[in-house]
Amino acid sequence: MTQIPFNVPYIAGTELPRIAEALKAGKLSGDGAFTKRCKAWLEEKTGCREALIVHSCTAALEMGAMLMDIRPGDEVIMPSYTFVSTANAVVLRGGVPVFVDIREDTLNIDETLIEGAITPRTKGIVPVHYAGVGCEMDAILAIAGRHKLHVMEDAAQGLLASYKGRPLGTLGDSGAISFHETKNIISGEGGALLINRQEDTLKGEILREKGTDRSRFFRGEVDKYTWQDAGSSYLPAEIVAAFLSAQLEDAERINQMRMDLWEGYHARLAGLEEKGVLRRPVIPAECGHNAHMYYVLLAPGIDRAAVLSGLKQRGISAVFHYIPLHSSPAGKRFCRVHGSMAKTEDLSERLIRLPLWNAMTEEHLDRVTEALAALL
Ligand SMILES: *Cc1c(COP(=O)(O)O)cnc(C)c1O
Repeated sequence: MTQIPFNVPYIAGTELPRIAEALKAGKLSGDGAFTKRCKAWLEEKTGCREALIVHSCTAALEMGAMLMDIRPGDEVIMPSYTFVSTANAVVLRGGVPVFVDIREDTLNIDETLIEGAITPRTKGIVPVHYAGVGCEMDAILAIAGRHKLHVMEDAAQGLLASYKGRPLGTLGDSGAISFHETKNIISGEGGALLINRQEDTLKGEILREKGTDRSRFFRGEVDKYTWQDAGSSYLPAEIVAAFLSAQLEDAERINQMRMDLWEGYHARLAGLEEKGVLRRPVIPAECGHNAHMYYVLLAPGIDRAAVLSGLKQRGISAVFHYIPLHSSPAGKRFCRVHGSMAKTEDLSERLIRLPLWNAMTEEHLDRVTEALAALL
């Protein structure tokens, strides 16, 4: 029995030639020709004001939190159903993540609960576009406008996905994208911060370049560069940017391959949804998703651990996530919960992510969905 792994990093085929070019160019540190190429690609495809290529989405979220100017004790509203980096970015600045519950349909933050969680200490909102499906951004931006709050989108999973035709990551003040090997477009580790406000662009460049104005120096805008502000080193090496540039050139085709597999799962699982044993992902009409992930929600009462181990016995590697942050040791220490977490707890305990990687075949999809049918 051949195994069906959960993830297999996709290689577009032009990565090695691009890396060879980078070596030949003789510049190995950050911000060479390939980093510039990736930056230009993101700016053109998303229409963001400025894209800063960084070494991870975690780094991008940390930078976004700095642009938000979070001070100790400031609160930032976000879902508990997310990856740890969303909350860590706030905690590292001494801020307090405030969790509100999620929506049943998309598993995104429930925008109707945000306003009730606002206090005089609230500094911002971090919507997380789960599975590359956009949050209800019009409502979230209206709340932010009324209360003068920052909005940083965790668009780690959202490259080339959209909300009402606008690319995810470009709707808030900033948006963080991931190129981790489990995402659609990869560089092993990698990320980008999309900056959407003119007043943040210079500050963003400075904190990415160890707090110096080296970017302005390279553009010839100043005749020397010096320490201007607090900052760190968030640049990827050119070899990593060369790899990423190969993937970005192929991004639309990569996403289309994933979309075909996503649709393949969706059609095959319609019958099990009708039987009432699982629920398939819901994509609201205003969202153009990017097939980042295919998950199912088991019906209440079904033993998820048994289903996962049954899949494993059939050579299929499926996984669950996230352990809600409010129930984790660090979450209890650093964060605050606003209201009920009933949906977060219920949905996160019933979710299974199915294998989804570009070289999967129709036979793989048949095997996974037939195994699920047999187990349910
Ligand atoms: C993957 C992911 C991150 C972190 O991305 P890295 O590039 O691994 O740092 C953050 N938030 C969400 C929602 C993610 O899925």
